Amino acid sequence: MIREHTKQIKVGNIIIGGQNKVVIQSMCNIKTEKVDEVVKQILEMEEEGLELIRVSVLDFKDAEAIKEIKKRIHIPLVCDIHYDYRLALKAIESGADKIRLNPGNLKNEDQINQIIDCCKKYNVPIRIGVNSGSVDPELVKQNNNKVDVDLMLKSLDRYIEIFEKHNFYNLVLALKSSNPLTTLEAYRKASKRYSYPLHIGVTETSYKDIGLIRSCVGLVPLLLEGIGDTIRISLSDEPIEEVRACKRLLHELNLYPNYYTLISCPMCGRANANIMELSRKVDSYLQKKNYHITVAIMGCVVNGVGEGKNADIGFAFNNSTTCSVFVKGKIIGTCHPSEVISYLEKYLDEFKL
Ligand code: SF4
Repeated sequence: MIREHTKQIKVGNIIIGGQNKVVIQSMCNIKTEKVDEVVKQILEMEEEGLELIRVSVLDFKDAEAIKEIKKRIHIPLVCDIHYDYRLALKAIESGADKIRLNPGNLKNEDQINQIIDCCKKYNVPIRIGVNSGSVDPELVKQNNNKVDVDLMLKSLDRYIEIFEKHNFYNLVLALKSSNPLTTLEAYRKASKRYSYPLHIGVTETSYKDIGLIRSCVGLVPLLLEGIGDTIRISLSDEPIEEVRACKRLLHELNLYPNYYTLISCPMCGRANANIMELSRKVDSYLQKKNYHITVAIMGCVVNGVGEGKNADIGFAFNNSTTCSVFVKGKIIGTCHPSEVISYLEKYLDEFKL
């Protein structure tokens, strides 16, 4: 897939933008000063495939905690700053790899200049993150109390101007709305207007299928159009679920190869097995592996033979006690329904990367 060619920005030990892969982000949901808990959460997400983590910096205790957190994690850390420029300075001095500023609540140009100087000194990039829920109230008032795409872009334009005036171009941009279609339009326009890398995401999408579908509505067209250099799927859920959702979405778009595809049928009157239960078991088993593999679990032979053959490993239930097993397109025998996971384990190693 051809990606938009944006400027490349170094964040800690990774490069975002250009033709580099789309980087998976999430955010901790624990107060940052609770170092042990925050580190545990980050390490779990790292293991799941997280590539960039953001933490909130609400006060100086949080900013100070960055030093210790940085020593114990392995991925770049972004500090989320609102209202108080001094927290940005402290977070950078403590080792933040990137900071996120919100144009809606940090507006004083002298204070911004101090942040710019500090970022230049430590070679730290800044993400300018416009959010539909916190656009500068003055701008909203001027726009008849309406927050729309043009207003979000206006807010971003005005902010970028301050940075460029001070020869600071080490920027990443984000324009998130809780409305997926607004988000889509905002990023499309932003990608035409700026060459800075874009962090994409629909914000505050809610939980489970609601959040996932709303995120997909906004993000899939962007990714298909090559827009987006880093991604977050914001869910009202545990942050690790955001990482899993990002991996799944990117994988389905061929942007994250080392992951699994699970094909399982919805079941109908012909089903010879409880595919609903079995697919969950297989899914939780595969989740722990970073294998580029397709596994099919099918309730009968009607579509089971075709899907089984097309998968790397496939199971199609002939009846309630016998299941045909396919490996790399060939039937290699049958197994009992209770043996599906052990057969999967047995043949999985062949697909290890
Ligand atoms: S594979 Fe068989 S059981 Fe599953 S939905 Fe199709 S016809 Fe029904």
